[in-house]
Amino acid sequence: KDTQRVDKILSNFGFGTRKEIKQLVKCGAVKVDGIIIKDSGMHVDPKESLIEVAGEILKYRQFIYIMMNKPQGVVSATYDNRLKTVIDILPDEYKCFNLFPVGRLDIDTEGLLLLTNDGQLAHELLSPKKHVPKRYYALIDGNVTTKDVDAFREGVVLDDGYKTLPSELFILKSDTYSEVEIVIHEGKFHQIKRMFESVGKKVKYLKRIQMGRLKLDETLKLGESRELTEEEALLIK
Ligand code: URA
Repeated sequence: KDTQRVDKILSNFGFGTRKEIKQLVKCGAVKVDGIIIKDSGMHVDPKESLIEVAGEILKYRQFIYIMMNKPQGVVSATYDNRLKTVIDILPDEYKCFNLFPVGRLDIDTEGLLLLTNDGQLAHELLSPKKHVPKRYYALIDGNVTTKDVDAFREGVVLDDGYKTLPSELFILKSDTYSEVEIVIHEGKFHQIKRMFESVGKKVKYLKRIQMGRLKLDETLKLGESRELTEEEALLIK
């Protein structure tokens, strides 16, 4: 059974700290299945029991999945003592769910970022063994050629000696500046920037557009986020 402490469930809902919730319980404001509870540490299955706070029925969802179109200038972390984080720019109603970003995008990278409180799913999406493909759109300073496509398919050696897994490079436009899409199946630190460095080119702009089968909703403006639809949530499971 999937039980959790009542105070944990309520604090995830933004009803305050454990201490404050203890107070609510003490006042008799919390009912489980119609009965006033006395112990805020009581275990209940939020999917099976009806929890009420001062008569308001909780519609509980254990896990939340949010798609963000990450802008530049925010860090993919839950906390930073100097810089704005992706959590800071979430709509207020999602701030109390202990959400965290699934993987990282560089501070200057834009695009698809998934946020969740589902640790198991995050683990699976990020597991190096699963090789979940991640698709990016990039602007490159330099003339990207089919030689680069071949090199990326073969795997390139990064500055620390690591040889990348095969990746797919698609040239959309090639001139003194190039426009490309690239699909990688792993996520080393600054991977795409370092892959282009290894072939003597510089990434000028980078945007993630897909993770596994989940695509960035292009109607989301930079900095906006929304919950995944049911169909989208199925794509990542
Ligand atoms: N590769 C990078 O270099 N940066 C990112 O943010 C993602 C992939």
